[in-house]
Amino acid sequence: MAAVFRLLKSTTTISRRFSSTSASSATTTTNKWSPRQPRNIQWVFLGCPGVGKGTYASRLSALLGVPHIATGDLVREELSSAGPLSKQLGEIVNQGKLVSDEIIINLLSKRLEAGEANGEAGFLLDGFPRTVRQAEILDDVTDIELVVNLKLPEGVLIEKCLGRRICSQCNKNFNVASINAQGENGRPSISMAPLLPPPQCVTKLYTRSDDTEIVVKERLRIYNEKSQPVEEFYRSQGKLLEFDLPGGIPESWPKLLEVLNLDEQEEKQSAAA
Ligand SMILES: [Zn+2]
Repeated sequence: MAAVFRLLKSTTTISRRFSSTSASSATTTTNKWSPRQPRNIQWVFLGCPGVGKGTYASRLSALLGVPHIATGDLVREELSSAGPLSKQLGEIVNQGKLVSDEIIINLLSKRLEAGEANGEAGFLLDGFPRTVRQAEILDDVTDIELVVNLKLPEGVLIEKCLGRRICSQCNKNFNVASINAQGENGRPSISMAPLLPPPQCVTKLYTRSDDTEIVVKERLRIYNEKSQPVEEFYRSQGKLLEFDLPGGIPESWPKLLEVLNLDEQEEKQSAAA
């Protein structure tokens, strides 16, 4: 795995300009990422299940031209592959528990090796590291540049998870929840419009078996317990960017770009170059 990460590091660079002065919804712990020389994108996305980090990481991945590596996807692929780990994984996921470090590292390592063969440069990691131990392993083999921590209040997260629907025909994701959460503890209220399916998908929607309130709450409890030390680990390194999502994608995406000091048009050109 070390060799794979080093290979990823040594390839092409993309110019980045970070700024610690950011939108009101985000706070940074240090001024560490002021403008410097060009470098790779080696970012980690943190955020509890259902916060939407996959969506934002995926959009940024397209914008910046680096792969979005989601350990959740790696787990689901393995689950549906009837591979050696799939039965064990099925039991863990159905109980709402987190997959062990060993299994995740095994899957991630396979994914990075495949990426290496395809000449990938840099990465956005989504769902990894989940524990301090994983973060330490990652630190031994690569320089994580930035850790984006996406946040939503727990009530909003639960509502959002329970509204998730998938179309059994086209496999697209929708959300039937219409969220209007009052602001509390000084943060503004949050509104999220549902993402409704087109007519041809309406009768084919299903809910993932692990999107029940009991499983979602258990998932959040376990996540919070483990994530706080990971957040602290990166906070102490000055790499943690806290981002309170102001709403759904239409509200949050422009704010996130602003905080990351990215220009959508400009990045598309440089990623294509
Ligand atoms: Zn469909």
